[in-house]
Amino acid sequence: MSDRDTRHKQSMQKLKSHVDDKVAAATEQRGLMMVFTGNGKGKTTAAWGTVTRALGYGYRVGVIQFIKGQWECGERERLIEDPNLEVAIMGTGFTWETQNRETDTAACREVWVEAERMLADPEVYLVVLDEITYMLKFGYLDIETVRRAIENRPAEQSVIITGRNAHRDLLAMADTVTEMQEVRHAFNAGVQARRGIDY
Ligand code: ATP
Ligand code: MG
Repeated sequence: MSDRDTRHKQSMQKLKSHVDDKVAAATEQRGLMMVFTGNGKGKTTAAWGTVTRALGYGYRVGVIQFIKGQWECGERERLIEDPNLEVAIMGTGFTWETQNRETDTAACREVWVEAERMLADPEVYLVVLDEITYMLKFGYLDIETVRRAIENRPAEQSVIITGRNAHRDLLAMADTVTEMQEVRHAFNAGVQARRGIDY
């Protein structure tokens, strides 16, 4: 064995024992709360990726799209064929387009009822609250209501929150927080959002 091979083997042995220790230490089994936040691209994509993963095992999944729900969404088009997926969409368009606090609040509360139902259903394995961070930011929903529903969800249920500027209480509650950091985004160079790539 060359020196390099020997060193590689030693370093892999060390890595393995480190990973084995961590695996042995992770004994708890329960649903997770995850937050995908930050300014970079990938939050909603990661959420739908996890939805696909859960559906792949035959689990039931609920997705609430708080804004942009009326926009085209390729993954929803495809996955909705799965009877284990339920999608609830907020009944108004983008809040910057409607510019009406009252109707937006009503639309948000209406779809939140669906979210609460899913968050209380032990048959639902994963609930995605896509872009809910803006509902809290605009004051359409209050943090206490959202916190209570998430905290009281069934122990085996996981929940994913997406959106920029996540409320600090949500960050504090979450088991896993990932911040998508923008290094560059094509949009800023004048490239249009692309079908099948951005939505
Ligand atoms: P995606 O849906 O692609 O995972 P996202 O959920 O992280 O993106 P959002 O803030 O919800 O990001 O934006 C949704 C749309 O805006 C997508 O078409 C996405 O490609 C685009 N987008 C994401 N990040 C940026 C950015 N930093 N600048 C401009 N457009 C962005
Ligand atoms: Mg998004």
